[in-house]
Amino acid sequence: MFSSINPYNQKKLKTYRADSPAVIERKLKQADRAFADWSALSLQERLDALRRVGEHLTANNQQLGALITSEMGKTLKEAVAEIDKCALSCHFYADHAAEFLADQTIQTEARSSFITYQPLGPVLAIMPWNFPFWQVFRFAIPGLIAGNVGLLKHAPNVFGCALAIDEVFRTCGLPEGVFQSLLIDVAPVDGLLKDRRVKAVTLTGSSRAGASVATIAGSQIKKSVLELGGSDALLVLADADLEKAAETAVRSRMQNAGQSCIAAKRFIVEKAVKKPFTELVLHYIEQIRQGDPTDDDTTMGPMARLDLADSIERQCRQSVAKGAKLLTGGNRDGCNVQPMLLHKVKPGMPAYDEETFGPLAVLIEAKNESDAVRLANLSDFGLGSAIWTEDIAKADRLARQLQVGSVFVNGLMRSDARVPFGGIKQSGFGRELSEIGLKEFVNVKTVWIE
Ligand code: NDP
Repeated sequence: MFSSINPYNQKKLKTYRADSPAVIERKLKQADRAFADWSALSLQERLDALRRVGEHLTANNQQLGALITSEMGKTLKEAVAEIDKCALSCHFYADHAAEFLADQTIQTEARSSFITYQPLGPVLAIMPWNFPFWQVFRFAIPGLIAGNVGLLKHAPNVFGCALAIDEVFRTCGLPEGVFQSLLIDVAPVDGLLKDRRVKAVTLTGSSRAGASVATIAGSQIKKSVLELGGSDALLVLADADLEKAAETAVRSRMQNAGQSCIAAKRFIVEKAVKKPFTELVLHYIEQIRQGDPTDDDTTMGPMARLDLADSIERQCRQSVAKGAKLLTGGNRDGCNVQPMLLHKVKPGMPAYDEETFGPLAVLIEAKNESDAVRLANLSDFGLGSAIWTEDIAKADRLARQLQVGSVFVNGLMRSDARVPFGGIKQSGFGRELSEIGLKEFVNVKTVWIE
């Protein structure tokens, strides 16, 4: 049995019975059968279906958003924005996938030679709770458009969202079996990855989970895409617009109660502007309103689970024990953790070395811009990064030196369906979104006709 619990008040919302081996087998059979029919549809038919999904999400954003809020605690405003982002991405792919998936002629001495993109089959998606709709749709929209079918193993604290996603696809007329949630914990994943009907896997979550899944997938010669954690650096150079940089830094770090892989987790600031930047950051942290996530004026809800709140509290405590200084925050009531700002943070402290998945901002002083890049790269993670400077030529040069999958200059690091998303180092491999993400789960087939 699994339970979903409202993290704001710890009230149990619902219990779910785990899928038995017989139910898992039935869903696998259905996925296998559905793949044959779904992949045989014309691309236009699949695009029309996904456009309907986008329209349905928009029409039901409040209700679906409320479900997200109840299960994992983000504010209703953030939850509705998450649903709207899923809808927007459905329309983006509906508009562009035909061009992305078109056969590509290659000039050779053959009569005709071209590349054609074909689906793989059932893809297992293992997803986390922090963006319970967006993480799933980020895979599902391009995955299904390409002609694959999806099997979702969601995090058990958001099984209500998992079943609601099934319902969205069903209501929009996608054939039975094209997208199904499995109500399972980690144990059956090994068997699923080894099942010949499952052709590939995508996982968003911790590096520990990613390593385990990729190991099994590798042993079966199956493709995996891993979108794992991050410890994104936000570089504030001496010539930055400090006001904008501080406002964006706090928003990036504290949105979703700090539970985002691409949150700015380390603010690396040039010495010359550290003091005014710190004051501005403190000012913006003070503006955060914690409370009932369904209230309009609440800007930060609770963390999603008690163990996650325990974890961020420990990382802060241990960093302070090693010499970091807590400038604000740190009080806690259940899952409601007061936003924290730590300074004097150095490598060797949990707040520097580990992924901090909660409302904990960290200030690190850099001697100059090259020291800032050095400190940014001194992380096992390599997901995203932000640079704040008024000198765009400098930003361009430094962006190329950062060991990450994305760099945003003078803006909020974010995922966007139009550009690839993913990391290097311990942050994973493969890309989601854009044309590149769409082509992760296809057979790139060469056809050569003499
Ligand atoms: P996990 O990585 O443990 O969970 C994410 C998903 O992976 C869940 O569906 C989980 O299932 C599944 N999973 C976990 N271990 C395995 C495994 N060995 N084999 C197959 N599937 C697995 O994240 P947590 O929820 O425990 O959060 C812990 C930390 O992970 C966070 O503090 C954060 O650092 C990081 N994280 C990063 C995310 C990101 O967006 N990059 C998202 C979520 C977490 P189940 O829940 O049943 O264990």
